[in-house]
Amino acid sequence: MTIPRYLVSFDSRKAIHRFTDVLVIGGGIAGLRAALEIPPHLDVLVTTKDKITESNSSYAQGGIAGVLAKDDTFENHVEDTLIAGDGLCHRDVVELVVREAPEEIEKLVGWGTQFDLENGHLALTREGGHSHRRIVHALGDGTGHEVMRAIIERAKAADNITLWDETFTLDLLTHEGVCVGAVCWRPGITKELIWAKQVVLASGGCGMVYRETTNPPVATGDGMAAAYRAGAELRDMEFMQFHPTVLYVAGSARFLISEAVRGEGAYLRDVHGERFMLKDDPRHELAPRDVVARAIFRTMERTQHPNVYLDLSHLPKEVVLTRFPGINKVCRGFGLDITTDRVPVRPGAHYTIGGVTVDAEGRTTLPGLWAAGEVTSSGLHGANRLASNSLIEGLVYGSKCGRGAAEAAAKMPTTLAALPLRHAVGDVLSESLDVADVTNSLRALMVRKMGIVRDRTRMDEALRDVDFWCRYVLAREFRDRAGWELQNLLTVARLMIAGAIERDESRGTHYRSDFPMRDDAHWGQLRHTTTKRG
Ligand SMILES: Cc1cc2nc3c(=O)[nH]c(=O)nc-3n(C[C@H](O)[C@H](O)[C@H](O)COP(=O)(O)OP(=O)(O)OC[C@H]3O[C@@H](n4cnc5c(N)ncnc54)[C@H](O)[C@@H]3O)c2cc1C
Repeated sequence: MTIPRYLVSFDSRKAIHRFTDVLVIGGGIAGLRAALEIPPHLDVLVTTKDKITESNSSYAQGGIAGVLAKDDTFENHVEDTLIAGDGLCHRDVVELVVREAPEEIEKLVGWGTQFDLENGHLALTREGGHSHRRIVHALGDGTGHEVMRAIIERAKAADNITLWDETFTLDLLTHEGVCVGAVCWRPGITKELIWAKQVVLASGGCGMVYRETTNPPVATGDGMAAAYRAGAELRDMEFMQFHPTVLYVAGSARFLISEAVRGEGAYLRDVHGERFMLKDDPRHELAPRDVVARAIFRTMERTQHPNVYLDLSHLPKEVVLTRFPGINKVCRGFGLDITTDRVPVRPGAHYTIGGVTVDAEGRTTLPGLWAAGEVTSSGLHGANRLASNSLIEGLVYGSKCGRGAAEAAAKMPTTLAALPLRHAVGDVLSESLDVADVTNSLRALMVRKMGIVRDRTRMDEALRDVDFWCRYVLAREFRDRAGWELQNLLTVARLMIAGAIERDESRGTHYRSDFPMRDDAHWGQLRHTTTKRG
């Protein structure tokens, strides 16, 4: 299956142009952190495809991990991350992120983030897989909202940062093997070519490729697909973290019930009231996410019930209401009192572990292109992300990319010129297409055949269907967001399925019933699945 180089036709001789020192694609925690690291004498343009508040970062609930308690150590945090990562983390990257985490958290405090306090100090909670209390949080369970409020305010106040929202990045522009900018779509202007000395990709993950997901609608893997089309390497695309506990009530958006709820002592029960995690894992409800998600999947199959339940009724009412005001509010909307009622939950796609390969500084394999945050595979998460390690990854790598891109941009000629680039989408199919229908079919297929438990037969079937859809969807030129998003979702789905077929073992979040064991003989020594457009 050949993936076309660009989604849309353009011609630099006729296009509208914009020039900037650094282009940052994405205004979540990673993108804005990168922008804020760039010195004032360089121009930064940050693009977001929706409102700037619409990102996974804004929806983060539980918090940010960092060693801040006296009885905690860097070694503990490193060890917890490595255990969750199931043999695929890069230790040097884990050590780097863990050591820089406290300073990044302090920086957020300095920028006005109001974290929750206990006796005048940062309140710390614990989540699954963490051996110590080390998660700072804000607004109880509204960490992302508060952190992004402070960062967005800071970015808006910076004279050298321009924020363009509602700006869809369609593709990365390349010239002689170097990333030189991006082609974007803006309301009222339509296509615009942005030329940049350096580009930072921070466009987040692709949870929307699954029907059940905690991610907001912006998470359609556009940046991953664009990086692939531009020739950057992606790796470990088979690893998608499923969050074990997503609210499962007919008519509700799939709202995340944070891990911190189990961290504070909530139980998981099956439909008959049994605490199934007691038998499943010595860490009980605080086992890593992949373990809990699979236990829930098995329990749903055993009981033939579409969900399990979270039970907080034994916890002090005041603690529950103070710690989880957001979750309480959403559940109340469905007539559920979280202090007394059992809350129906099931797993949903939550965090894209695979992504664009970056080195320890945030460089991708495509010169001129840097990347940070959920769009990347940095080596931090391995085969399974430890809870609350991703906001911190966005901060640490965002700052590295900002610094690196600024240094590289400063060494380049002072003025930029448009390059002679053009592309025409050939053989445009003109029959009308029900984009929503294909999108829904893809998302349902991914749950059925590329979900928590996988096998070769079902993945082959999934690949056949996706390839068939790609044949007639990727050959078109769309003029709206839904069409481009479908093209990107199909592209990342294809990469995910191919990676999952190649990895004939079970590791971390990737569980295959036909290869149920981890196979270090073939997949040890940090062997990744990698992919690059030929
Ligand atoms: C419900 C929920 C709860 C979570 N809780 C936690 C938690 O407690 N702790 C933790 O560490 N992690 C948590 N995570 C994960 C964490 O929020 C994300 O991994 C992290 O925020 C990713 O940040 P990012 O900057 O890489 O991407 P995002 O925050 O997703 O930002 C992506 C940006 O890219 C832009 N973009 C995307 N496509 C395009 C395009 N085509 N053109 C232009 N712009 C584009 C978007 O508009 C957005 O601005 C949670 C995630 C979810 C969904």
